[in-house]
Parts: sequence; C-alpha cells; structure tokens
Amino acid sequence: MNIHEYQGKEVLRKYGVAVPNGKVAFSVEEAVKAAEELGTEVVVVKAQIHAGGRGKAGGVKVAKSKEEVRAYADEILGKTLVTHQTGPEGKEVKRLLIEEGCDIKKEYYIGLVLDRATSKVVLMASEEGGTEIEEVAEETPEKIFKEVIDPAVGLQAFQARRIAFNINIPKELVGKAVKFMMGLYSAFVEKDCSIAEINPLVITGDGNVMALDAKLNFDSNALYRQKDVLEYRDLEEEDPKEIEASKYDLSYISLDGNIGCMVNGAGLAMATMDIIKYYGGDPANFLDVGGGATAEKVTEAFKIILSDQNVKGIFVNIFGGIMKCDVIAEGVVEATKQVGLKIPLVVRLEGTNVDLGKKILDESGLNITSAASMADGAQKIVSLVG
Ligand code: ADP
Ligand code: MG
Repeated sequence: MNIHEYQGKEVLRKYGVAVPNGKVAFSVEEAVKAAEELGTEVVVVKAQIHAGGRGKAGGVKVAKSKEEVRAYADEILGKTLVTHQTGPEGKEVKRLLIEEGCDIKKEYYIGLVLDRATSKVVLMASEEGGTEIEEVAEETPEKIFKEVIDPAVGLQAFQARRIAFNINIPKELVGKAVKFMMGLYSAFVEKDCSIAEINPLVITGDGNVMALDAKLNFDSNALYRQKDVLEYRDLEEEDPKEIEASKYDLSYISLDGNIGCMVNGAGLAMATMDIIKYYGGDPANFLDVGGGATAEKVTEAFKIILSDQNVKGIFVNIFGGIMKCDVIAEGVVEATKQVGLKIPLVVRLEGTNVDLGKKILDESGLNITSAASMADGAQKIVSLVG
C-alpha cells in the first residue's frame, strides 16, 4: 500500500527523522491558512498524489508570498499531473502539502528496499540526489552505494557512517546523517515497509540533514497489524476495481490487456495469464477467486471484470478442488443476469461437480464457448477477441 508524502513524513517524524514543517490542504483557502500558520518567508506548494516526478511535471512550486501560495494552490489543485510514474492518463491532484521552504545546500538519495537476491533489507545511497535513481543506476552505477542489513542485528551505526562517507556528507553532519538513517531503518522495520525512499535527502544552509521527499510503501499482507498505517489509505488514489475486489476478499490486479480472466488459485491464475500470452493475447487482469469462493463472490468477481471497459472477452478457467464447478457456474450465470454479457465468454471447467457446472451453464441460455483444456480455452478466447 502506498501513502502520500505528507503522511510518510508524519510517520518518519515519529522516528526522529528530520522533515520540514508542513500541513496538508484540501482547498485553496486551507493552503493559504496553512502558509500563514507556518509563517516562513518561503513555502513550497506540493501536489500530493501517489506518484513521484511531480517536480518536473509542475507539481512542486516555491511561493514567496501569500498571493503566490494562493495562485499556485489554485493552479495545482484539480490539475491532472502527468509524470513518468502516473502513466499517460495522469493523476488528479486533490490534496496539497504546504511546506516550509528549505535552504538546500545539496541533495542526496537514500533508500531502503527489500532485496530479493539476499532476502535482506538493503540501504542504498547516492550523492546524485533529486534525479531518478533508476537513471543513476543506468548511467553511473558506481555512484550508488549499498549496505546489506543483517536482520538479526539491524542497521549498524558503522554501516550508516560508511554510507555517509561514501556519498560525501560533510564531516560535521555525519552524526546527523547516521541518526537519520537509523530512524529511517526503524520506521521501515516497525511499520512493515516494502520501500522507504528519500529523494532528496538534503543538507541545509543551517546544518541540518532532512527528508525533503518521502515515499513509503507498505506490505499489504502486514496491514492487519498496522492499523495506524491503514488509516492513511487514500482510496481515491487506487483503482476502483481493485478496491471493489478487496471488499470481497478477491485477489485482483488490473492489467493493460483485453482478456478478462477468472481463475481459482494464484498458480493457475499465473499459468492462465502465461498461456493467453503464449497464444498471442493479453490478459486484462489477474484474478484469483480463492479456494472457498461463494456464488456471491464469483458474481462480484465477474462484475468487476465486466466493469473494465478494455475487456473484450472473458476466459473462465477453473479447476474445481475445494471450489466446486457448479458454484462457479451459478456465479457466472447470476452475474451475467445482473449486468448482461455482450462479449465472448470461454469457460473451461474441470474437477468437482464439473458435470453439474456444465449443465447449469448449458441451461442458462448464455452464449458460452466451452473449452476442453486450458490450451484449447486460451486459443479460443484469443481468436474470439481477435
Ligand atoms: P518529486 O520527487 O515528486 O519530484 P520532491 O518532493 O522530490 O518531488 O520535490 C522535487 C524537488 O523540489 C526537490 O528535489 C527539491 O529540489 C524541491 N523541493 C521539494 N520540497 C522542498 C522544500 N520544502 N523546500 C525547498 N525545495 C523543495
Ligand atoms: Mg522526490
């Protein structure tokens, strides 16, 4: 799960990580009021969306007066920002962070990620702050320094010091940089983060080490024990289809293709997407309805797939083990009754109650193409979608 920059900074502040003072604003009036309350000569008006690259897209503006705050807030609120992370459709700005202007001396990059290769958290840092770390990795990989953290003892001060020296933090600020990294690491571990990226980390004219940006991602599977993090969830930033799916406990991820998939079991769902690709098609989603799905759940799943405008055909691929084929069939029939079905539907059923399932589908009067095997089904839906 992703949260906004201002929320990330709120989390970090609790762990002793220095961040500028700031306030969230949902309207121009609130933005002006926030700037007045901050009372600094310079404030920065920052678009809050779940994507980076806002600066380059015009979503971060430095204001030197109340009038400028008003003008920038008015300009950015409601605007659709297109950054390299939003996709071409962009994201509409509904919140602003009004923040103290910071006297930046130099920008750095600091990040914590879970490294799949070592199965450990890695602290990454670079002197090339402000720019995309992917670019630095591509062009000047020697400028990225890493420390692999042993989970048994956590980040050690000597590792943080080594990073600080490697990225040339001025000597007199190494102590503050170390404290910063230790705080960031504690937040990462205690809050079950999957990414904590500070770009830029800055050193300031008055000798501080601060996070000017904060991107925190959380492991969704740990949210049951991170109630305060869950409070930060902003549903408006998420795909409405995925939100709907989560209400019914469906594992659904929307993708770019045009073949909707309804499958049971994550492994079979992955294999189904692969085989669609193999035959030249493109899956519109990953969807695992789970082992013990009810007809209601299947109905909702089917409705979610149909609500995707890109979907031009549906492939239902079910292996009935715990899940029974007749339950799937009932769900499909019920959903199509509720929302109609104007696109091709290919169904491959196998396993428990398969005959009953097929009978329900046959008698439904729906226009269904049945498939003898997974490969057969994939080929059929790909050719029907064209
Ligand atoms: P993004 O990564 O989405 O572009 P950032 O928060 O990193 O957004 O802001 C982009 C740039 O704007 C920063 O690299 C920094 O130079 C400047 N900036 C951001 N916040 C402040 C601030 N409070 N004071 C001064 N400059 C800022
Ligand atoms: Mg940034």
